[in-house]
This record gives sequence, C-alpha cells and structure tokens, in this order.
Amino acid sequence: VHESRYAFKTPAPAIRAPPGSKRSGHVMQKAKPGLSVEGSMRGGDGVAPWAKGRSVTVPSAARTPLVLLSHEWTGFPVVRRQEAGKNMALLTFQCTPNAVRSSLGGRGRHVDVAMPVLGQDEVRPYTPIIPASARDRFQLLVKRYDGGLVSQGLFNVQVGDRVRMRGPIGGLPSGWLNGASRIVMVGAGTGVTPMFQVVYNMLEEQQTKPAATPAQVTLILANRDEESIPMKPQLESLKTQLIQLNVIHVLSTPSASWDGPTGRISAEHIAPFVVSDADEHLRELRVMWCGPPEFHIHMGHLAKDLGIEQGQVHEFA
Ligand SMILES: Cc1cc2nc3c(=O)[nH]c(=O)nc-3n(C[C@H](O)[C@H](O)[C@H](O)COP(=O)(O)OP(=O)(O)OC[C@H]3O[C@@H](n4cnc5c(N)ncnc54)[C@H](O)[C@@H]3O)c2cc1C
Repeated sequence: VHESRYAFKTPAPAIRAPPGSKRSGHVMQKAKPGLSVEGSMRGGDGVAPWAKGRSVTVPSAARTPLVLLSHEWTGFPVVRRQEAGKNMALLTFQCTPNAVRSSLGGRGRHVDVAMPVLGQDEVRPYTPIIPASARDRFQLLVKRYDGGLVSQGLFNVQVGDRVRMRGPIGGLPSGWLNGASRIVMVGAGTGVTPMFQVVYNMLEEQQTKPAATPAQVTLILANRDEESIPMKPQLESLKTQLIQLNVIHVLSTPSASWDGPTGRISAEHIAPFVVSDADEHLRELRVMWCGPPEFHIHMGHLAKDLGIEQGQVHEFA
C-alpha cells in the first residue's frame, strides 16, 4: 500500500470556520491550485483490506513525517476506530514517535481538523488524547451531532483513511499547574478531552519521576445519562492507575438505578473540592473546565460565587 493511494488532487478548496464562531463565514485559507491534499478518502467498503478489524501500522509512516505543524495540514492515518459511548467514536491515529506528544505537552492543547464537505473544507477544533506510554499514537474522541458538518464525517472515518490536522492551539499556560496541591477539572460531554490529555500526562510524569506529594485531582463530569459518559473503560482504568484521581459523574437524566449525583453542575458539586479555610490551600488550587459555550458561562458564574480567583482558573475554549 502506497501513501499516494490516499492522496488526491483538489481544486483550491476554501477553508471555512464554524457557523456562529468569530471567524464564521470568512474564508480562512485557500490551498494552492493543484496542490495535493490528503483527505479522508477510501475505496470499496471504506476499509483498506489489510486493515480490517485490527489496529494497523501504516507502512509509509516511517518515510513521511507525521507531525503537527501550525501553518500546514498533515494527513494522519486512522489505525483504529472504537465505539466510545452514545454517538461517540474514539479514533486512533499514527504519528511520528513522540511528535504529537511533545507538541501538545500534556497541556490540553487542541488541533484544527479539516473535513471536505460539499467540495470545500470545514474546520473545527478537536482535542487529542495521548494515552500514557503511547509514543506513535494519539486519539480523537468524536461526538456525532445531527446536522453537524464536521462531526458526522469525522465520526464515520474508517481505518486507512487520513484526516488532516494542524496545530497545536491553546491549552494551559506552561507551568500553570506547578505548585498546585488541588486540581479540579470540570468537563461537560466531550469537554472531557483536554482533561484526559492533562491527566494522562500526570500519569506519565508520575511513572517517570514520581512527586513526593502529588496534587489531589478531582474530575467532575457532566453528562446526560450513563450511556452518554465518554470513554468509560479508559476512565475506570485511569482511576486505578492514578490513585490521587477522584472521578465524579453528575448526570442530568440518569436511569432509575443511578444513585450518584444528579442535575446540572452546581456549587454543591464543586464546593467540597475548592472551598478551604486555609489561605495557603486556596492559593494552591487550580480549576479548569471545558464544554459547550453555555457551560462556560455557567461555570464562570459558579467560580465567581465560590470565590475562586481568575488566576486559578483556566477555560479550554
Ligand atoms: C477548543 C475546542 C475543543 C474541542 N474538542 C472536541 C473534541 O475533542 N471532541 C469533540 O467531539 N468535539 C470537540 N469540540 C467541538 C467541535 O469543535 C465541534 O464544534 C463539534 O464537533 C460540532 O461540529 P460540527 O461541524 O459537527 O457541527 P456544526 O456544523 O458546527 O453545527 C451543526 C449543529 O450541530 C449541533 N451541535 C454542534 N455542536 C454542538 C454542541 N457542542 N452541543 C450540542 N449541539 C451541537 C447543533 O445543532 C448545530 O446547530 C471542541 C470545541 C472546542 C472549541
């Protein structure tokens, strides 16, 4: 299988930002006419014959650097696709060893993903996850939205397809977690992805250079019901590997058998982990959150009500 099999020529595709975003409606970039662009392309049943039903290694990867670049698209090959919850898929991509890990730095950084939709590229941000000890692999958790231009195409990619990405973008400021003794992470839906990136990095650091007193980490996840919780097996496994990690699920419409916290995320769910009588403990607190725009507004109000200072807060947006 040669790499060229997955490359195709496209006439100057326009790249558009999501509707409603600050960049909405603007043509952000045009590829040069005749430029070879790797896209999500496949033949036959959509799965390369050598790739069916297993995680594969793309033979050409050793020759072509599969690295993240900020101003150029790289087509990363999908080597595995797993179900990851209701309407969610976990895609595993191959990359040059350590390339994506070192670009992201475990700081919850995201990438732009381009998908061809009706002859032009649509671009949306997604947050890669790198399981601890994975060197030449990274993952994207994708939730499929009805009518979603990019998520529907991305959800349906198959092993052997390539997906174009560029970045990294955003994330925690370098060293922001240094000196923190308590870290509270709040994620709504796929807002768990930057948290996975940060927590896997903590696990990796703990395995290579264990801290004498590791920070206590509380991960509060808001979802609709039990089936909507993304990447449940990976969360369970993380809990056993990182003993200072506490995972709390808050479900808005759980099944009758659910006996955990319910409703919308409120001060009641967060206060036990952020409020402290000791000033020094307050200073050592870091709180971060990620979710849909209305969730960010809601969390901003909650943090203010709980007396959390701006410098202690990071929003992944
Ligand atoms: C920094 C950042 C990181 C992100 N990381 C991830 C990630 O790791 N995994 C992931 O799956 N997504 C992630 N997202 C969201 C992602 O970028 C897209 O917004 C999402 O996949 C929808 O894009 P779309 O093109 O399919 O929908 P669009 O075509 O933009 O929207 C079409 C319709 O889809 C529905 N829709 C879109 N987004 C939402 C939403 N959030 N909630 C409810 N309905 C919605 C609405 O009905 C909307 O009208 C991230 C967003 C940001 C800002």
